[in-house]
Parts: sequence; structure tokens; C-alpha cells
Amino acid sequence: MSIDSLPPLREVIQRHELMAKKSLGQNFLLDLNLTGKVARQAGDLKDQTVIEVGPGPGGLTRALLAQGANVIAIERDERCLAALQEISDHYQGRLRVIAGDALDTDFSALAGGSNVKIVANLPYNVGTQLLISWLLSEPWPPFYASLTLMFQREVAERIVARPGSDAYGRLGVLAGWRTEAKITFDVPPQAFTPPPKVTSTVVHLVPRVAPLACDAAVLGRVTQAAFGQRRKMLRQSIKSLGGEALLAKVGIDPTRRAETLSIEEFVMLANAL
Ligand code: SAM
Repeated sequence: MSIDSLPPLREVIQRHELMAKKSLGQNFLLDLNLTGKVARQAGDLKDQTVIEVGPGPGGLTRALLAQGANVIAIERDERCLAALQEISDHYQGRLRVIAGDALDTDFSALAGGSNVKIVANLPYNVGTQLLISWLLSEPWPPFYASLTLMFQREVAERIVARPGSDAYGRLGVLAGWRTEAKITFDVPPQAFTPPPKVTSTVVHLVPRVAPLACDAAVLGRVTQAAFGQRRKMLRQSIKSLGGEALLAKVGIDPTRRAETLSIEEFVMLANAL
């Protein structure tokens, strides 16, 4: 069953000679049932503005449009622009393509005051960096209503990790502090062209309306120091930030290790700093 009357993605890729580039993290999803499933994780998209990073040949973009969204898509690879223009012509006025680098994009300005949803099959080389910048957005609650993002499975596990697990680190603290993050489903390598080496996973994050009060940048520094030497005791790993004296202020045992601290305890430490 087709979701629109546009040509199949394989044909689009052939016609526009879109051979995947590893340097741009290009692993394309060509099954429109699957891109539809990713888009549905973002909830009701009727008349919703969605920002998509890295539309590539437009598989996920088409699913978002078919579900009623207005899409702003940022793509760095100029080879994809002609293919995206065809989608834009088909869905008159509902797809705006921005040729550029997502890392240089002011997403809040793009949203222009409306509460957007961000949906993307992220290029693996910039995915974490983009997520951290969205998690550190100011003011909070942020300019987005939700993030629905595809990552490598291992990164997804770090985003939803709880204290005590090996995957728990800076990403888990920041995501858990400001959002409710959950894994929705896995996508096997063979669903992509070309197939990546590892399984991918879709994560859905919804901003908490009132996270514990804390300066995001300071929390970032504390977690970076603490997890930078995760096997060491905190008195050692956060020595440069005040070590034992800082830990004493908030009543945390200096012999504990970073991975045993709850998000609340990290927030207490950051506030004491
Ligand atoms: N959305 C398409 C799909 O699901 O089939 C493509 C996903 S592919 C994993 C990642 C896409 O991000 C590619 O189209 C790539 O060219 C684009 N990309 C890579 N780095 C980017 C950057 N810094 N800014 C914007 N787009 C980027």
C-alpha cells in the first residue's frame, strides 16, 4: 500500500544518483510502512509543525506529510535537494527545505514561537550533540513539544539509563532531569540502505513541565567531571569542582561513584556548586 502517489524511494535514489555517503551518516529508510511507524510515535501530527533533521531522499518526510504535518527539513547534502523539491511540489506549501548544517541551525528561531515536534532519523555522527543542545535549551519548557529520534541502540540505552547501570552517564542525567524519555521500538540493520553495523532504536522524549530547579550548564559540568572518571570515587573525580568539601555540603558519601548517584543528587551537587 502506498502512502502517496510519489515514486518509490528506490527509484528516487537511482534517478538522483543518491549513493549513500558514510561521512554524512547516510543510512536511508526506504520502507514507507516503517517511516510511517516512526512518524506515528510522535503522536497526532495533523496541522502540527514538525522539524526534521536530515530528510535525505525524503522517506520519513513523506510519512510526516502523509500524517498531516507541516514540515521544516534541514539537509546538509545538496544532492538531496532536487528529490526533496519533488515532495515539496506534491505537498504544496507544506514542506520547507533548508539547505544547511543542523549544527549551525537555531532551532528555536525556526520554530518561530509555535510548539513544534522534532522528528528525525539522525545522522549518527551528530545525533548526540544535537540531543544535548536540545536538552540544554533555555528557556524551559522549551520550544518543542516532543523529540522522536532514531539513534544507534547503544545511544538510546544511554538516554533512558537509570542509576546503577553501565549505560548511566551524562546523557541519562540530562535527559532524565528535563524529560520523560522512553524507548519505543528497534529497527534492524537490514531495514536501511546501506545497512549500518548495529541495531537502531527510536526514542521519544517529552519535556517535563517543571524539572528540579538547576542551572543546566553547571549540571553539565558536574556530570562531565563525575562520569569522566566513572570508576573513581567522587572525591577524586570531582576534585576540581570542590571534591570532598562540596560533597559534604550536600551530605553525599565521598567514596561513592558517579553511577550510583540519582538525578536528584546530581542536581543537589550542581546547586551547591
Ligand atoms: N531521513 C532519511 C531517512 O530516514 O531515510 C535519512 C536519514 S540519514 C540516517 C541522515 C541524514 O542526515 C542524511 O540525509 C544526511 O545527509 C543528513 N545529515 C548529515 N549530517 C547533517 C547535518 N550536520 N545537518 C543536516 N543534515 C545532515
